[in-house]
Amino acid sequence: MNILLSVIYLIATVTFIVGLNKLGHPKTAKNGNLIAAAGMGLAIVGTIFIHDLQVATIIYVLIGIAILLGSIIGWFIAVKVEMTKMPELVSLFNGFGGASATLIGLVEFSKNIDSSMQAITIISGIIIGAITFSGSLIAWGKLNGSLKSVIKIPQYNIVNNMFFIMVIALAVYMIVSGGYNPLLLYGLLIGGLIYGILFVLPIGGADMPVVISLLNSLTGIAAAITGILYNNMVMLVGGILVGSAGIILTVAMCKAMNRTLASVIFGSFTATNAVEGSNKTLGSIKSTNASDAAIMMNYATNVIIVPGYGLAVAQAQHVIHELEEILVNKGVNVKYAIHPVAGRMPGHMNVLLAESNVDYSILVEMDDINPQFNNADVVLVVGANDVVNPAAHNNPASPIYGMPILDVENAKHIVVNKRTMNAGYAGIENELFYNSKTSMLFGDAKSALTDLVSELKNM
Ligand code: NDP
Repeated sequence: MNILLSVIYLIATVTFIVGLNKLGHPKTAKNGNLIAAAGMGLAIVGTIFIHDLQVATIIYVLIGIAILLGSIIGWFIAVKVEMTKMPELVSLFNGFGGASATLIGLVEFSKNIDSSMQAITIISGIIIGAITFSGSLIAWGKLNGSLKSVIKIPQYNIVNNMFFIMVIALAVYMIVSGGYNPLLLYGLLIGGLIYGILFVLPIGGADMPVVISLLNSLTGIAAAITGILYNNMVMLVGGILVGSAGIILTVAMCKAMNRTLASVIFGSFTATNAVEGSNKTLGSIKSTNASDAAIMMNYATNVIIVPGYGLAVAQAQHVIHELEEILVNKGVNVKYAIHPVAGRMPGHMNVLLAESNVDYSILVEMDDINPQFNNADVVLVVGANDVVNPAAHNNPASPIYGMPILDVENAKHIVVNKRTMNAGYAGIENELFYNSKTSMLFGDAKSALTDLVSELKNM
């Protein structure tokens, strides 16, 4: 490989590492993304024009058309997508990454295979890519609501694991016997695709964040395997970064959801049903209005705001910041409680609140804010539901039992803003809404917060 291309790959590799590092903070994340994208652009241009100088013109034309089409579609989707639909888009992109790895594997398999190592690489790429592709499509369907219900195959744990073992056994047979038969290869491909579906299909309710980050990580691993196959450093490093960052995120998500990584991989997820496990009568609710809620906050010393998915849907991040500033100017001590899986993507609340320039120092992570709820005079829950559901502590039969939550019930008063009594993502009732300390402030988050702001301004 010529020296210029090696230098280009080295620069691209450095931009990936710098970019990833900058993604660690909302203030630098945008630049980090641009830096890594520029590096990727450079690596693509370098590969097309320098890697092989004997390429026929028609190939350049075909690559140009493919890049143009992909860029137009990608640009259009990225500009149009709403923030709350981002995880669906990520799932779809994960799927495309997996499909690419599988297609590369299929093409390479049709060429001569020189060693067992090469066979292992190609076959691993095909399996991981196929699982990622079909699993991501199912995750996409679940996130956008078209596959909302949880589909349970009887004894799905056993069926899934048996199927996985069969796929691996076939792969091992192909490698050991050297029997690179196209029929076996397509069997392997179909096996991988079916396993991806079986793996994600039974997962429901609040468990999806773990699956999404695991699929994300698998995409990186598939890319890294392709990098090994082509002896391509930039692909290998890029894949490893995505794979390892994805695994770290998966472990963090597992912790947040109180799952073990083994239970994710080997399929002992609890598939969730709506209102599972509780026949208890939840009692009556108490509703409030903007004026009463504003009075409560006006005279509070400590207010904690709990943002959730509804805040993002209502795009109420600017008005909540205005509310927070008014309270601070009145001498109220205000903090935001950030649950790691609030919203629909990892870090969703941090990104959302950074958009409206909320000071990062008052965004407090779950473990640090939980002991502080005891001292809160008022907790304002805006569009959050599962992440404040005490069933996670109190109801062993609940599908979210064991998941760490924000302990808002320890506060003196709780005001919950949402539009109706509908359930959140996990599809389960929330007894917090029936707590004697809770007042429900019904309405769309943006208009409810706007009303609160104008009431507070008049006090
Ligand atoms: P939830 O989905 O549990 O609840 C959101 C609540 O917001 C709903 O009950 C809804 O009630 C309310 N809401 C919707 N629109 C509005 C609006 N315009 N104004 C006011 N309220 C509104 O959200 P949480 O953030 O509490 O929890 C996140 C859930 O999503 C968890 O179960 C998590 O596991 C899951 N998840 C998280 C991912 C992540 O990576 N963060 C990825 C995938 C899933 P109503 O309709 O009555 O208004």
